[in-house]
Amino acid sequence: MKKESIVAKKKFGQNFLKDENVLRKIVEAMPKNDNKIVEIGPGLGDLTKFLVDVKSVEAFEVDTDLCKLLQSTFKKEIATKRLHIHCGDVLKAWQSELVDEPYDLVANLPYYIATNIILKALADPMCKNILVMVQLEVAEKFCAKVGEKVFGSLGIITQSVGSSHIVVKVPPSAFDPQPKIDSAVFLIQKDKDRSDKSFEDMLRVAFTQPRKTLMKNLSQKYEKNLLQEVFAAQELVSTIRPHQVSTSDYHQLYKLINKGSLDGRRETGNTKK
Ligand code: SAM
Repeated sequence: MKKESIVAKKKFGQNFLKDENVLRKIVEAMPKNDNKIVEIGPGLGDLTKFLVDVKSVEAFEVDTDLCKLLQSTFKKEIATKRLHIHCGDVLKAWQSELVDEPYDLVANLPYYIATNIILKALADPMCKNILVMVQLEVAEKFCAKVGEKVFGSLGIITQSVGSSHIVVKVPPSAFDPQPKIDSAVFLIQKDKDRSDKSFEDMLRVAFTQPRKTLMKNLSQKYEKNLLQEVFAAQELVSTIRPHQVSTSDYHQLYKLINKGSLDGRRETGNTKK
């Protein structure tokens, strides 16, 4: 199959990045290290071409037509083991270890599963850095700082393992076919591994109603008396909203709430899912 005869499949979130300036900016923003690269959704291989020039790449592509095209485009790189193409759904491959050595994720992600992929990469101890293109709104959530309206679980989980910033905003005209939304490339540099399901569960409760107070949200799951004590110990006013509390304060809250619960107080048990 020739590149020109490929028709983009909506169900796989195929919007191919055509703007060479953006492709170059992605490569320039890559952290300098010896890590392998994992590319999810190489598509027609436009970004892959730049990546294999710099490093060896493990690429995961779900679309069998594109897999065939990539296998013929990159014959030489595959033969020299510079590139390895895994054909199939990356989320299935990720049910066990994705790659058994340190890697950086560099990709123009399929938007319909982008958040899921980034959360998996954040929790994966082998993943050291994440440089990805996603919908602008999603990038802003992962890069949000305390006090910003969009600061929520995604920003807190990100700040718990490292730092993040937006590299470049990308208009629909950079793609073929053009998406209806703006996009952005952003970078997360991980400097620690901290994946804690029950901390993330607390965040989910903290942001159930983002415009209500943090106290009101948390009291769905934890005893009010305990929360009042913990808020007082941390000098948090009871009217504070969830987006106004910093990542380190959330970690401290989590510690104190758990300690309080262990000291004999119980969860209220009426969590809304
Ligand atoms: N990297 C290419 C580019 O920049 O032009 C294509 C990016 S396109 C937005 C997303 C790619 O992810 C498509 O090639 C699509 O087939 C692939 N994809 C979608 N779902 C996938 C999945 N579950 N596992 C692996 N690849 C997937």
